[in-house]
Amino acid sequence: MAEVLQIEQIPVLKDNYVYLVREPIEGMVGVVDPAVVEPVLERARTLGWRITHILNTHHHGDHVGGNLEIKQATGCTIVGPRADRARIPGIDIEVGDGENYRFGAAEAEVFDVPGHTRGHIAYWFAKADALFCGDTMFALGCGRLFEGTPQQMWTSLGKLRRLPDATRIYCAHEYTQSNARFALTVEPNNPELVARSHRIDDRRAQGLPTVPSLLGEEKQTNPFLRADQPRLAANVGLDAGDPVAVFAEVRRRKDVF
Ligand code: ZN
Ligand code: FE
Repeated sequence: MAEVLQIEQIPVLKDNYVYLVREPIEGMVGVVDPAVVEPVLERARTLGWRITHILNTHHHGDHVGGNLEIKQATGCTIVGPRADRARIPGIDIEVGDGENYRFGAAEAEVFDVPGHTRGHIAYWFAKADALFCGDTMFALGCGRLFEGTPQQMWTSLGKLRRLPDATRIYCAHEYTQSNARFALTVEPNNPELVARSHRIDDRRAQGLPTVPSLLGEEKQTNPFLRADQPRLAANVGLDAGDPVAVFAEVRRRKDVF
């Protein structure tokens, strides 16, 4: 059976990941969050893929920096968050919460996930078990709250946490190793987290990516998805009855870690 979506991971800048996604039936090719131009065009050339779309998650420069030049070079269509259309260079198509964006024969469900930025969105290709979540969720982490509140981010992560365990989390940065060190400070007795942090160290020692991860393992080990776990709440000195307060405290500690 043919793959629903072919996905290529391009490490760029210090720790960003840009993705090329190809829908093989109609040959649509999307760039998720082009931080840069040349490495993206070069990978597409090497693969023989013709870029037809850019899919942006949010307005930060390390996610939209390549928009205009790639559009000029390829004539592609730029898809991005309706809630932030004014800050997405070259945007052609606006999408928002609960909408299904048809991408050739594939389909992405869009979620509004404010918190890191006001207009952040995520793209869920359900049939491909792939989630492109930008800087909302990272392997063992979540984005900083530049434009949102803990309540907003907890709600946004809750939308993503509801997806199937087999969902692969294609986040936009390789922050996993330092996220693991932090996670162990708030859940030192979580055996899955301890085991995962060893696997992460092994992979990084070999120069291998730790992204994508699986949502199932994030649910078991990512402290930002676990603010409603009584053990974690107790570890940060709070009551589990208020997950937003626990989330806020974990985020605050990470900000100064
Ligand atoms: Zn960002
Ligand atoms: Fe980023």
